[in-house]
Amino acid sequence: MRAITFRPHHFLCSLGYQGKGYDDAFTANMDQVVADGLHQSGGDDTLITVVRQADVICGPCPHRRGEGCASQDKIDGLDARHAERLNLTEGETLTWGDAKTRIAALVKSGDLSTLCQGCQWLDLGVCEDALARLISDDKTP
Ligand code: SF4
Repeated sequence: MRAITFRPHHFLCSLGYQGKGYDDAFTANMDQVVADGLHQSGGDDTLITVVRQADVICGPCPHRRGEGCASQDKIDGLDARHAERLNLTEGETLTWGDAKTRIAALVKSGDLSTLCQGCQWLDLGVCEDALARLISDDKTP
């Protein structure tokens, strides 16, 4: 199976994705990659390679600037914090299922206010809700 690519902070973005995005093209791509891919049965087997440049989610984003981002400083901070917390290294390939196991083990409820500081979607609360569900499912025998 061919791997998709994710910046470090896009693992948690994908966990919390609820159909909201920057514009129609961005949201259609997120729907395809995340809602119709990772969030579906069998999505846990999806291979993801960690990159530190534009990834499969950035592709159609109106803020993408080549391999970079119009908000590069903010994105660098997000990626650095998420890579450190989730022990993600550039070039590493893991499954979405493994990524969720890592998130459940290493991120606690309430952590997103610092981990995702500066993200415009944080106040919606959908990412904390998704994180709480993941942690709860992880504890279910
Ligand atoms: S805002 Fe930047 S990091 Fe986020 S999806 Fe768009 S191009 Fe990628």
